[in-house]
Amino acid sequence: MSQYSEAFLEHYRRPRNLGDLDAPDAVAILHDDTCGDLVRLVVAVDRHEDAGGSSAGRIREIRFKAYGCAATIAAASAITELATGMLIEDARELLTDDVIEALDGLPPGRVHAAVLGLETLHAVLSRLQPACLNGSRRRERNGRR
Ligand SMILES: [Zn+2]
Repeated sequence: MSQYSEAFLEHYRRPRNLGDLDAPDAVAILHDDTCGDLVRLVVAVDRHEDAGGSSAGRIREIRFKAYGCAATIAAASAITELATGMLIEDARELLTDDVIEALDGLPPGRVHAAVLGLETLHAVLSRLQPACLNGSRRRERNGRR
């Protein structure tokens, strides 16, 4: 395991944001044929509207489940940590290099894990209903958890 950084091992041994959400705004599951890895992401967003009427959504919570190599688990964990609290438009801009940097490096043969995790992130964000982004769908904020 010495090919992996301490940051990588930390994410692998104690994954962040592992699990599920009761009321996600979107779900995505992606599968990588190369080594059979699978990543599932669920996301809940907050909507904001500014005075000008334009709007932006922010990632309130994100959870993952992953099956596959250690790198896929560590990368998915790092991605959820990066994405939490981000504007959706900013999270869409996350790059493979950002994930690799968060893991303090990935062996060349493991870069597919960062790619798969990011593709899943992009997929889950693209599945958000437009209403989630423009704030027209109101949801009761009280009474949840
Ligand atoms: Zn893999």
